[in-house]
Amino acid sequence: MRISQELIDEIVAHSRDDLPNECCGLIGGVDGTAASVHRARNAAATWLRYELHPSDQIRIMNTIEDDGEELVGIYHSHTKSEAYPSQTDINLAENWPDPLYLICSLENSDEPIVRAFAIRDGAVEEVELHVG
Ligand SMILES: [Zn+2]
Repeated sequence: MRISQELIDEIVAHSRDDLPNECCGLIGGVDGTAASVHRARNAAATWLRYELHPSDQIRIMNTIEDDGEELVGIYHSHTKSEAYPSQTDINLAENWPDPLYLICSLENSDEPIVRAFAIRDGAVEEVELHVG
């Protein structure tokens, strides 16, 4: 997936803003290139997992469609663990296998790490992020 540094920075900023909880949001784009990052509320409001707020999800999906984009990614933060999907994340992805899953780890708060994964049929495959 191609993504600009500005959008990566926005995901990191959201991850920091929502501490101590996990944050989550959606990424719009065209042909696998990210074009927009949309913050959603974490309805679970915990650092243990994320749950896209249902009304935010509907509103953002409409915005992405109105902008002529499609959903290319779902992002969330890991506040205390590495940027790798948890079993909870893998279970959650069962219902939505098409978008890529971006995880921003703040495990080392000075060095946030964002990685991307395809999660399909319970299998995790890292996808390279082309930043710039
Ligand atoms: Zn997670």
